[in-house]
Amino acid sequence: MSTERLSHRITAIAESATMAVDSKAKAMKAAGEPVIGFGAGEPDFATPAHIVEAAVAACQNPSNHKYTPAGGLPKLREALVEKTERDSGWRPETSQILVTNGGKHAVYNTCAAVLNPGDEVLLPAPYWTTYPESIALAGGTPIPLPTDTTSGFRVTVEQLEAARGPQTKALFFVSPSNPTGAVYPAAEIEAIGQWAVEHGIWVFADEIYEHLTYDNHVHHSMRALVPEINNHFVAINGVAKTYAMTGWRVGWMIGPSDLVKAAGNLQSHATSNVSNVPQQAALAAVSGDLTAVAEMRASFDRRRRTMTEMLLAIDGVELLTPQGAFYAFPNLAAFIGKEIAGREASTTAELAAIILDEAKVAIVPGEAFGAPGYARLSFALGDDDLVEGLTRVGQLLAG
Ligand code: GLU
Repeated sequence: MSTERLSHRITAIAESATMAVDSKAKAMKAAGEPVIGFGAGEPDFATPAHIVEAAVAACQNPSNHKYTPAGGLPKLREALVEKTERDSGWRPETSQILVTNGGKHAVYNTCAAVLNPGDEVLLPAPYWTTYPESIALAGGTPIPLPTDTTSGFRVTVEQLEAARGPQTKALFFVSPSNPTGAVYPAAEIEAIGQWAVEHGIWVFADEIYEHLTYDNHVHHSMRALVPEINNHFVAINGVAKTYAMTGWRVGWMIGPSDLVKAAGNLQSHATSNVSNVPQQAALAAVSGDLTAVAEMRASFDRRRRTMTEMLLAIDGVELLTPQGAFYAFPNLAAFIGKEIAGREASTTAELAAIILDEAKVAIVPGEAFGAPGYARLSFALGDDDLVEGLTRVGQLLAG
């Protein structure tokens, strides 16, 4: 009889720090504390009306109370072919698309379907907190590759090549980046894609922030720049960030048909289809135009500027101006070991706890993203809260 009560694969993973910070902030708020949450990346906007109306209509049609194929509504997968051509400049087949329970589920499915025990996955750091856990759950080993403000939080081909070994199977690539807000220029994406093709390395590209770029930065899909990567490329995406649909839980993965078939088999046992009505809402979202998206992006851009200005006004804060997504990732190392409200933090995790206790502001410490010394603040919250929260943090850190 096994002496282990629980699975060591599962007990080895930690709760998602972004979700934990968000639920703690929401619970404190519900208990009457004036907490301002910069934790989870969740747009404060309501889902655009035409999408909600499509869901209401879908709800009233009994045929939508039934299962869809486990891999997703055929109409949605067809719409995703068109959407990918429109937004990413390449055209997949429907057989290459699997509709998942949010982008996170696509990350999990991809790792589960590609990795074998012992496989190494190159993981530029700072990284989204879910990537290393999904890699480990599939038996793989994440190999973090550090980047910082001086490298613009972008990994280079030289770094990738230095880390490549006989067990290297894949690279996680995210641009615009959660948590750093960095956006890779086309030439760097192309060089990384060509390196991956040369060595037969899979690229798992998280493209969920594709529409959220600012100033002269734009998103490029590696698959469009390097078509030869087709057989080793997975695009991970979803409606959550672009259409303010975090709670609807609709994402998708697009990859070679054999991988998508394998991931679909897994999904057919694990979850079956994504809830039918949200799939109809996602259909309205991806087949509609991008007017509402442009409006939300303009608000995020305004908040980004305010946040950048207010963070840089705090003596000791270093920051790469966010170029995409909706996160700022300041270096707060100057505040480690410094007395703040009579307390002293020896890590950014402790600093975040002090900021939450004393300023009632929730931020995610860099440790969650493999980057101690930093912290992540989402600017997807309302303008007034953003200013109030950053004013409190500024006052606290100024002592
Ligand atoms: N992707 C968002 C974030 O990083 C949502 C939270 C999560 O799923 O981790 O905050």
